[in-house]
Amino acid sequence: MFSLKITEEQRIAREMSRKFCAKEITPKADALEKGEEKIFPVIRKFLLEVQGTGLIETVEDLEEWVQGREFITRNLVSIEVSKALPGFALSMGASLELCSFSILATGSREQQEKYVLPLVHGEKVGCWGLTEPEAGSDIRAMKSTYKKTPDGYILNGQKTFITNAPIADIFVVYAQGEKGYSAFILERGMTGLDTSPPFEKMGMQSSPTGAIYMDQIKVPKENLLGQEGQGLFDAFRVLTNERTVTPSLMIGIMERALQEATKYAKERVQFGKPIIRFQAVQFLLARIWEKLLASYSMLFTLGQMTELGLDTTLLASAAKLFTSEAATQSALDAIQVMGGHGYMREAGVERLARDAKLMEIGAGASQIQLMILGRKLLESDSVEPNPLFFGPSLFAKKE
Ligand SMILES: Cc1cc2nc3c(=O)[nH]c(=O)nc-3n(C[C@H](O)[C@H](O)[C@H](O)COP(=O)(O)OP(=O)(O)OC[C@H]3O[C@@H](n4cnc5c(N)ncnc54)[C@H](O)[C@@H]3O)c2cc1C
Repeated sequence: MFSLKITEEQRIAREMSRKFCAKEITPKADALEKGEEKIFPVIRKFLLEVQGTGLIETVEDLEEWVQGREFITRNLVSIEVSKALPGFALSMGASLELCSFSILATGSREQQEKYVLPLVHGEKVGCWGLTEPEAGSDIRAMKSTYKKTPDGYILNGQKTFITNAPIADIFVVYAQGEKGYSAFILERGMTGLDTSPPFEKMGMQSSPTGAIYMDQIKVPKENLLGQEGQGLFDAFRVLTNERTVTPSLMIGIMERALQEATKYAKERVQFGKPIIRFQAVQFLLARIWEKLLASYSMLFTLGQMTELGLDTTLLASAAKLFTSEAATQSALDAIQVMGGHGYMREAGVERLARDAKLMEIGAGASQIQLMILGRKLLESDSVEPNPLFFGPSLFAKKE
């Protein structure tokens, strides 16, 4: 049964992640952000040493591992990683929670063996390409196309802002064809497949982002992912999964912001006393804590709902919306508490604000999450806002 008390297994997983981050990520964070060190060798080490993925040899092991990845343990690990370096969590998530997840959700046994096993071992890097230059929030406007041939498909088009694209070996991409939107698995080295160099961006610097170019790629028929025409339906499931794991990344950022700013406020003396003694400073810190506690509550509710097999679509939208905005504001408030020092790169807090901002845009911008919630209110005859106590549907239709 779901419990708020942390289990021994969860405690060990969190401790192992903390130790790994302290030894392998935090000391290298600057070098990873500047691109002087590559991110994937460290991700690989994390997967093997902390997640134990080296023990997964077959698809059966994989299924067992996926089923055993209990929600809270998984998220406690993700919080630790994000606290150390959010870009690390983002790149690892794109390979595992987006690329692998989409192949696990709808792929054949052969596809899971060929692609997911090397992804979970960290031997290969995965990316997930939905967004296009003219299709961001309006994903149905995508221009990438596929055409059926006797032995497979021909793909043309372009994807942009794709996490890990510049370094990926395995690509899940979506294109439009005769039967609608469909998903395909591409491999680096296929003729006609190319990627851009990493884009320069505001935050999440250690996580490479880029474009995917598809020029007359001949894709074998066994690389169709899921059912032809079902691509967007499958993509929305992947997005819900992404929104379910986003709160842990944002909690990592808020925890780090609160810790750094509180420590600084206790040490910094102005007007003859530590600045934490000023109520105005205490209130800034208390606001971060308030947001952090609310975010944890949302995360645990998502865990409870996942365990009960309830539909998390709406809560995942609300949690992604709330925690991403809360993390950006918390990081900005931490800078305020730390004054000029907080504004300096060296303090490491301004990076948290730049990193957090991404999640108000990616996986569906805040306005899109509001539309998802707003549309539901508009469509429903009666609203049952508590997801836990009143059964599987947040919104019951009138009898
Ligand atoms: C660092 C980074 C990594 C990313 N990684 C990936 C990845 O791995 N895979 C992937 O597929 N994509 C990825 N993305 C893309 C991301 O999902 C898109 O940026 C996002 O969906 C928004 O699309 P857009 O940027 O085209 O903005 P637009 O859709 O052009 O939106 C611009 C603004 O208009 C608002 N808006 C749009 N439509 C409406 C509406 N109907 N009502 C109200 N407001 C609206 C938006 O909320 C936003 O504020 C990544 C983006 C970034 C920046």
